[in-house]
Amino acid sequence: MTVAHVLGFPRIGGQRELKFAVEAFWRGESSEAELAAVGSTLRRRHWDWQKDAGLDFVAVGDFAWYDQMLNTAALLGALPARFGFDARALNLKQYFELARGNAEQPAMEMTKWFDTNYHYIVPELDAATAFEGGVDWLFYDIDEARSQGHKVKPALVGPLTFLYLSKTKTAGFDKLELLKKIIPAYRRILEKLAARGIEWVQIDEPVLALELDTVWQAAFVPAYRELGNAGVKLLLATYFDSVTGHAALINALPVAGVHLDLVRAPAQLDALLPAWPAERILSAGVIDGRNIWAADLTTKLAQLETARAQLGERLWVSASSSLLHSPVDLDSEDRLDGELKSWLAFARQKLDEVAILKRGIDGGRDAVAVELAASDAVARSRATSTRIHNRAVGARLVALVASDAERHSPYAQRAVAQREWLKLPLLPTTTIGSFPQTQDIRSARAAFKRGALAEADYVAAMQAEIRLAVAKQEALGLDVPVHGEAERNDMVEYFGEQLAGFAFTRFGWVQSYGSRCVKPPVIFGDVSRPKPMTVEWSRYAQSLTAKPMKGMLTGPVTILQWSFVRDDQPRRDTALQIALAIRDEVVDLEAAGIKVIQIDEPAFREGLPLKRSDWDAYLEWAGRAFRISASGVVDSTQIHTHMCYSEFNDILPAIAAMDADVITIETSRSDMELLEAFGEFAYPNEIGPGVYDIHSPRVPPVADMLRLIAKALDVVPAERLWINPDCGLKTRGWPETEAALANMLEATIEARKAI
Ligand code: GLN
Ligand code: ZN
Repeated sequence: MTVAHVLGFPRIGGQRELKFAVEAFWRGESSEAELAAVGSTLRRRHWDWQKDAGLDFVAVGDFAWYDQMLNTAALLGALPARFGFDARALNLKQYFELARGNAEQPAMEMTKWFDTNYHYIVPELDAATAFEGGVDWLFYDIDEARSQGHKVKPALVGPLTFLYLSKTKTAGFDKLELLKKIIPAYRRILEKLAARGIEWVQIDEPVLALELDTVWQAAFVPAYRELGNAGVKLLLATYFDSVTGHAALINALPVAGVHLDLVRAPAQLDALLPAWPAERILSAGVIDGRNIWAADLTTKLAQLETARAQLGERLWVSASSSLLHSPVDLDSEDRLDGELKSWLAFARQKLDEVAILKRGIDGGRDAVAVELAASDAVARSRATSTRIHNRAVGARLVALVASDAERHSPYAQRAVAQREWLKLPLLPTTTIGSFPQTQDIRSARAAFKRGALAEADYVAAMQAEIRLAVAKQEALGLDVPVHGEAERNDMVEYFGEQLAGFAFTRFGWVQSYGSRCVKPPVIFGDVSRPKPMTVEWSRYAQSLTAKPMKGMLTGPVTILQWSFVRDDQPRRDTALQIALAIRDEVVDLEAAGIKVIQIDEPAFREGLPLKRSDWDAYLEWAGRAFRISASGVVDSTQIHTHMCYSEFNDILPAIAAMDADVITIETSRSDMELLEAFGEFAYPNEIGPGVYDIHSPRVPPVADMLRLIAKALDVVPAERLWINPDCGLKTRGWPETEAALANMLEATIEARKAI
């Protein structure tokens, strides 16, 4: 019989139960025991679902109160010494302090898990880290699952991935030195699992999807030689991309099975099968663990047939990655229409899909004829639905020519045309777009959405906010004001709600970090813009001031990156469709007299593929999408873009190729370090490096900002330097915002004198 399993299940709960329980605990409103009870309930439910679906194992070790990397550090006893915690006796309060900081210690760092929007806690290691063992939560969960009658397959973050993703503060210290300590620690854990009678242990090494250097590659074989005979069978799990580049290495590892992501990298099956080691299990990840589409089961079965012919029962079936990256349960979606809903599958439905494939492999197509027929019907409906396929959009894409992605003239010429009418002082000042989202604003938006506030009243309320924001900016003396984005809940959702081809779920939450979840829009069809989205707000804002009002849009790459994207066409094509829709908006803004327009692309860097060799192809289409959105305007219209959260050093040519007239970036937290690369690269257009951190309520003194401006002037000529905060101000309050901006203006005036 074919084994069916998943690498992991979302832990947050379909109604975000874990989030609310954890936050109540943080607020001191519930006890450790109460929180623990919520965790048990969720684990029980998720295990039952796996078993009831017909999977052969339940995944254990995927549960975490905050994050699985932090859990691994706690399990190994590899906690940062600065907290002074005993890993063996760690309580939940301390666990959360590691993740969130406490009065004495800043939190451990957090960063993105590969190319997902999940953030993990970065292990903090040094030469003295002992790995002498820690909490026994994993064993507790295993016993709990077994006591409920489940067959358990524990999952661990593998030692090489753990080390690779960790950071060490000791200068000159090579993390790989720690291998000799960490491997015995893993071995002890595996032996403990063996002693409990565990047969299979999943050991995740997603770093194998990266282009590892030879030193890291060489570390695998000796490490796994120590682990391969600890008394359990190891299923080495790889995901997020192809591992064919490391085929020889993987074949040499003493592991009993290997999991492959056949959604992201389907071709690796044919590449690896011919030399598949005798006796080794292949776990085929054919159901998409990272997206929300129902699988085309007939195609998936066909995909498995050759492997089955060669491997027989050594073929296992699974989802591509942990289902952590999928929303929990489609059944709760009571407001999606039946057709759209039939196209989707969330984590719980993916369990069924895996199980159907298992039955199809074992019993042949007849055994799952009903399920296949239903799946075929969905595939047909997606292939032909006029809700998905819009001829006009397709025709526009085909008709795109190179000049659509180019401004009429080069930057130098445009700058002249822009200076002529803008008449800005040296070091012009602006903000990134949003102003404080006060409780009044949120309540008005919510009331309007519920239907409790009439449209005219809602518009009046938002216009009042715009008047307030414009008046404050006039009083402060900002050179290029913005309308403040009061009408926007979220920079992607706001546009998705107005574009054709987008849908929204009620409970499609995915964990982003800790208790924070995001609910990405679903791009199910061809994207177009039925009517202008922002023009009236911007026109109104412009009517209130003689200064040039900056229009504010979200860019195509960011909209793509922060949505669930359709899987029936290349991401590039979807990006180009969004680009055309944004282009229409840009052109309409210009026609309405808005001639400074910012197209935000904070997620531009996030889209980079895991392998560097794939970067150029991505940067080419992502840059093109941005330029298509920006290039419908005349030379004198000034296009801004904004990026934050990222380092750009390694992609500066691509950022320059976006050819925005002005780019604003986050730099204050790095003390302008990020800007230095722009200087070395001789970035040709205008730049606004953020001069103050908007993430904290602290009002930075004039002198601090003056120092940062001076640093920026070392790198960027005064004629091309803008002054602005790091990012939007929506999370701040008005008092600190006004005080900080007043200081920013004062610093700018000082700096101008010195030029
Ligand atoms: N214009 C957006 C804002 O100011 C940009 C947000 C972002 O970069 N994440 O809120
Ligand atoms: Zn930003």
